[in-house]
Amino acid sequence: MSSPERVYSYSATLMGSPILLKLFEDNQQAARAVFRLIKQLEDLLTVNREHSQLMNVNHAAGRHHVVVSEPVFELISQAKAVSLLPDSCFNLTIGPLVKRWKIGFHGDQVPSLSDIQSLLPLTQPEKVQLAPSSCSVFLEQAGMEIDLGAIAKGYIADRVRDLLRQMGIDHALINLGGNVLTLGSPQHAMQNAWGIGLQKPFGMPDELLGTIEVVGKSVVTSGIYERYFEQNGTIYHHILDPNTGYPLNNELLSVTVISDDSIDGDIYTTLLYGMGVEKSLCYLSTLPHIEAIFVTKSGEVILSSQRQFRFTLLDTDYHLA
Ligand code: FAD
Ligand code: MG
Repeated sequence: MSSPERVYSYSATLMGSPILLKLFEDNQQAARAVFRLIKQLEDLLTVNREHSQLMNVNHAAGRHHVVVSEPVFELISQAKAVSLLPDSCFNLTIGPLVKRWKIGFHGDQVPSLSDIQSLLPLTQPEKVQLAPSSCSVFLEQAGMEIDLGAIAKGYIADRVRDLLRQMGIDHALINLGGNVLTLGSPQHAMQNAWGIGLQKPFGMPDELLGTIEVVGKSVVTSGIYERYFEQNGTIYHHILDPNTGYPLNNELLSVTVISDDSIDGDIYTTLLYGMGVEKSLCYLSTLPHIEAIFVTKSGEVILSSQRQFRFTLLDTDYHLA
């Protein structure tokens, strides 16, 4: 019989990201089912291959509607709604700019200003037509492309949680590379909460800025040090400002969101990143179920509140504000 204190880790590379599943029993079958589910959803939602349901929509831009499956339709609808919030920096039609910058992919480079200016008119969320009765999507203008990179991992993490629960697993952790979702507490006599490392910005992969302790929560981090390149001393990262077409530039290095659902974490990390600290703290005071940790370029760590988590600062280059 397996000891309840033992952790079993299963890993895979999917969605161009290292995926880690932690369980408290050796359950290869569950791990296989989890990785299969992630692969199925990746196949529907990826924009990094020629074919997926999302790519079918993109290929038909300016020409015709495309019928998609219900989960894809729901996710596009949610991404559109978030994109249309007042002053939202989240834009599901950011695809043409993401493809042009190629940040995190081979061939990344700063596009010319004229290229950026010619692509900006293709990033208009209101031009995504949705027909719920037929689950179909139409992009009004040729060249438009939906990119769900800022929301899909969160959605997928939530579906993994549903699957684990269906299999009777109530204590587990799934890490989709930046999106961590915990189920229950760790089944460990010495540990009543999960300790999740917050990476030190631009540090070595195992260097931690601090740890976040949670039980049954999602912890999602978006940072400018995750995918970036440097050109002539300037860092260009992968969260783009839909108003300018260039990487968002403010006081932030990263935003971490602690929430029940990982889709909220994924949405809010991007939204709050665009708002900056001051506006975010004001906004979060109206959202008791969402909490955040901001790390700034001047070395400050700012916590919105600590109702759903505990934070321990480990790195002396940073201080709690
Ligand atoms: P977030 O901060 O949550 O989002 C940033 C990402 O969202 C950007 O990378 C971009 O895709 C998009 N984005 C940028 N600006 C905006 C904006 N203003 N509004 C909305 N969205 C924006 N990576 C690989 O290297 N190879 C792969 O084959 C690959 N396949 C993937 C397949 C799927 C289904 C998914 C979901 C991701 C895949 N990825 C792959 C990773 C992907 O390219 C992104 O890097 C990743 O989703 C970013 O997640 P994040 O949580 O770090 O960033
Ligand atoms: Mg996100």
